[in-house]
Amino acid sequence: MSPRYLTKTRYKLGIDCPTKLYYTGKKEYPDQRQEDTFLAALAEGGFQVGELARQYYKGGINIDSLDYTEAEDMTRDLMKRDQVVLYEPAFRYENLFIRVDILVKDVNTLHLIEVKSKSFDRLGDNPFLTRAGKIASGWESYLQDVAFQKYVLEKSCPGYTVNSYLMMADKSALCPTDGLNQKFRIVKDITNRKGIRVSTTLTDEDLKNQILIQVTVDDYVRMIHGETYKADGSDVSFAGLIDFLSSHYRNDTKITPQICSGCTSCEFKCTPEQEAEDFKNGFKECWREVLQWNDNDFKEPSILELWNYRKKDSCIASGKTKLQDLTPQDINIKTNTVPGLSSSQRQWLQVEKVKTKDTSVYFDKTGMKAEMDSWAFPLHHIDFETARVAIPFNKGRRPYEGIIFQFSHHLVHEDGSVEHAGQYLNAVPGIFPNYETVRELKKQLARDNGTIFRYTNHENSYLIEVYRQLLADTNPPKDRDDLCEFIKSITKSDKKPDEWRGQRCMVDLWDLVKKYYYDPATHGSNSIKAVLPAILNSSSYLQGKYSKPIYGAANGIKSLNYTDWSWVEYDQKGKVKDPYSLLPPVFSKEIDASIELFSEDEELREGGAAMVAYSRMQFSEMSDYEREKLEKALLRYCELDTLAMVMIYEAWREMLV
Ligand code: SF4
Repeated sequence: MSPRYLTKTRYKLGIDCPTKLYYTGKKEYPDQRQEDTFLAALAEGGFQVGELARQYYKGGINIDSLDYTEAEDMTRDLMKRDQVVLYEPAFRYENLFIRVDILVKDVNTLHLIEVKSKSFDRLGDNPFLTRAGKIASGWESYLQDVAFQKYVLEKSCPGYTVNSYLMMADKSALCPTDGLNQKFRIVKDITNRKGIRVSTTLTDEDLKNQILIQVTVDDYVRMIHGETYKADGSDVSFAGLIDFLSSHYRNDTKITPQICSGCTSCEFKCTPEQEAEDFKNGFKECWREVLQWNDNDFKEPSILELWNYRKKDSCIASGKTKLQDLTPQDINIKTNTVPGLSSSQRQWLQVEKVKTKDTSVYFDKTGMKAEMDSWAFPLHHIDFETARVAIPFNKGRRPYEGIIFQFSHHLVHEDGSVEHAGQYLNAVPGIFPNYETVRELKKQLARDNGTIFRYTNHENSYLIEVYRQLLADTNPPKDRDDLCEFIKSITKSDKKPDEWRGQRCMVDLWDLVKKYYYDPATHGSNSIKAVLPAILNSSSYLQGKYSKPIYGAANGIKSLNYTDWSWVEYDQKGKVKDPYSLLPPVFSKEIDASIELFSEDEELREGGAAMVAYSRMQFSEMSDYEREKLEKALLRYCELDTLAMVMIYEAWREMLV
C-alpha cells in the first residue's frame, strides 16, 4: 500500500474542498477528472512546457523513480553536492511529500521552480494581486502549490534559503525557430505511460530566445504563509491548515462537507451508469450529509442549476437549496432596455417554471419575428474549431496565440432548402493555419450578402485575434489588407480605441436563445449541446423532417460527410436521442465526458474534444490511418455543430407559422 502522504496534488485538492481528500484515490468513488490531468496537459501543452523548461536548465539529473523511498534516497544523495540541478527531486517532511519540477542547488541556496503551462504577460500589469492587494483568485491555486512546496522544502532541508519561482509561457515572447513544438512529441512508453520525446535535432538556436519566463513569487508565498485559514470552524495558521489536511488524509477520516456553488463541478459526482453499477456518489453523499436529502430530493432541480446566478452561495447558506425555494426578491428581477429577456427575467422564468411544474417552452414570437425580418437570405451558419498551444509551431509566433484549424458552413436558402455548403480542416503538423482558414471562409461567404450566424462569441473573438496577428506580422501575406477588411466586415470589436461593427456583422444565435427562447428541458443551460436535444424533442417539424434518411441523400439535404443519414432516433422512453450520441465519439466516451468536466469555461467544454484531437495530431506520434480517422471524426462533428444551428433556426421558423 502507498503511504498516505499529502502531496502537492492532494494539498491543492484539499484547498479546493477538504472533503475531497476522503474520496480521492478510492475505487468506489469514481473521479470524473482522473483522465483530465493528461487531457488538460495535452490540450494546453503542459507536458511540452515541462520538458522545454528542463532544456533551459540543461545538465540536470532526473530522479525518475516512482518509488517514494527510492526517490527520496536518490535526492538525499545528490543534495550532498554543492551545486546541482535536479528534475523531480523528492522531499518528505512527516507525511508531507513533494516532487519539485526543477530544483537548483547553489551551496546554501535552493531555487524551487514550479513549471506551469499557464500564460504570463511580462509586459502587462502584475496579475498576482487584486487592486485591494489580495491574491487574485485566478492565481490562487498556482501560488498555493508553490507555497506548499516551499513549506515542505524548508522543513525537510533546514538551514537553506529557499527562493521560489513560477515558470510559465511568456505571451510576449517570440518563438525563435520554425517547428519547435514538433521537437517535443508526446509519446507513450511500453507501460502506456505518457511522456515527451525530445528530438535529437533540438538546437541551441531553438533555445536562444526563451519562450518561458521565470517569475519570482516569494512575496506572494509569504502572504499565503501568513494568512489565517479555517479548519473545522476554527482559525488556524498555514502550518495548522497543512496539519489539519494531512492528518485527516493520513487517518482517512472525512472532513465535514461545506456544500457550496463549487459542488456544481465536483469530480466525485457519479454518472447514472456508475450509480447503477453501485459505485458511490461523493457529491450525493455530501449533500445528503449536510441537508439530510433523500433520493427524491435529488430529482428536484437544485440551486446549482440556476443559469448565470451569482448568489448561489448565499442562498445555500440561508437554506435555499432548491429552485422552488427562491422568491422574486432572491433574483432581483430587472427589465431589459433592449428587446428580449434580461438575465434576471430569464432566471426567474427558469424558477417559475419549476415552481408551477410547467414544462412548456417559452418563445417570444414578437421579438423573434422582428429579428428574423432583418435577416437576408441565404442564411450562413458557421462554426470554428480552435486551439491554443503553449509552444508555437512557427518562428515569430507567440505562446498561446489563437489557432482556427477548422470550420463548417451550412446554408439555408429562401425556399427553406438546406445544404452543407462548405468546410475546412487543416491539422497538418507545423502549419499555422489561420490565414488560409480565413481566406477559405472569405471565399465561401463572399458569394452573396446573406446573414451570417455564429453560436456564442467564439467566432468573433478568434477572427479579431487573426486580424491582430495579420497586422502584427512582419512578413504578412500579400492579401493581408483584403483579409483584414473581410474580418472587420463580419465582426464587431468593443475594444477601445479600436472599436468597429462590420456592415455584415455575424448574428449570435446564442444571444437570441437567451433573449427569446427557454425550454425547461435544458435545465438552464444555453449551450448548443443542451439546446439541440431539447428543441428536437419539442419540435414535431424537426422530428418529421429529420427522422427520414434524407441527410446526405441523393434528393435530400446535401452533406459533405454523411450519406442517407437520419438524425432522429428515439430511446426506450420515446425521447429523441441526442444527435451527438449517434456519432462515434472522437475519443472514448469516458474521455469525452471528462473533457466536459475539465473546464468551467463553456466554450472550452464545447470544443474540448476537437481541441484535444487537434493537439494530439500536432504533438503525438500517430499513424496515417489514425490521423485520417481523427480527421473524419472532426469533420463529422463540426458539420453537426452547424447543422444544429440550422435545426434551431428551422424550429423557430416553424413556431412562428
Ligand atoms: S460535493 Fe461539494 S462538498 Fe462534497 S466533495 Fe464535492 S465539492 Fe466538496
